[in-house]
Amino acid sequence: MTGPAISLLGIPLDANSSFLFGCAEGPDAIRAALRSESSNRASERSVDVLSVLDDVGDVDISNERGSYDDADAITRAVAAQLAADRRLITLGGDHSVTYPILRAFRDRYHDLTVVHIDAHPDIYDDLDGNPLSHASPFARALEDSCMNKLVQIGIRTATQHQVEQGERWDVTMIRPRELDRFDPSDLTGPIYFSIDLDGLDPSAAPGVSHHEPGGLTVREVLDVIDAIPGPIVGADVVELNPQRDLIDMTAMVAAKLTKELAGAMLATS
Ligand code: MN
Ligand code: MN
Repeated sequence: MTGPAISLLGIPLDANSSFLFGCAEGPDAIRAALRSESSNRASERSVDVLSVLDDVGDVDISNERGSYDDADAITRAVAAQLAADRRLITLGGDHSVTYPILRAFRDRYHDLTVVHIDAHPDIYDDLDGNPLSHASPFARALEDSCMNKLVQIGIRTATQHQVEQGERWDVTMIRPRELDRFDPSDLTGPIYFSIDLDGLDPSAAPGVSHHEPGGLTVREVLDVIDAIPGPIVGADVVELNPQRDLIDMTAMVAAKLTKELAGAMLATS
């Protein structure tokens, strides 16, 4: 291995989904796409990022709805990687994984900024009585002071409740029609990147449980990644549902984003 290692950690959890299951198969589908010989190992910065990614396997979880034992197992697994001075890319799993991930980052980094790509704000105070729902990870993480600043991009389903939740925590919520409001020079400190694949338009990423037309292009997401001043200390790519995918194209998008996140981590380290 050359250069600083970036750990790749799978979290096969979909029990906190609210509509369809299948995201538990996401990590292995992204791994297969990363290894696919249809592409090569280089990022767009012409760096062999695959040699830098160290796959440390999956977190051992029960995949039960609302399980705090699973959440604690995720936090411990992430904390172990951070304690080894690793940067980390996590493969989901539904978006509920991000709250326990961010608990570990909170304990390692002060002044963390989270950049969050999604169709949904995921800040419901409560949805279906499951505090660990994939519709609430950022509400739980904000309550637990896991970040200094949350910037959401691609949001196009915010209910009035979620708008109020966003105002309560001073969340920056950028809709697809107002992408020019995104100002990377506003971002300070270490950056954590959370990519829900349904933030992309379903024409580019159909393999998700919640199709929400009118989303971002792959290039727009890559441009956001490129614009981050860094350092990017961690990232997740979540909500791939292989049961919904067409010709593995969403898995390839997820693998592409993983490669470019790794490239950006190296470039900003
Ligand atoms: Mn989400
Ligand atoms: Mn979403």
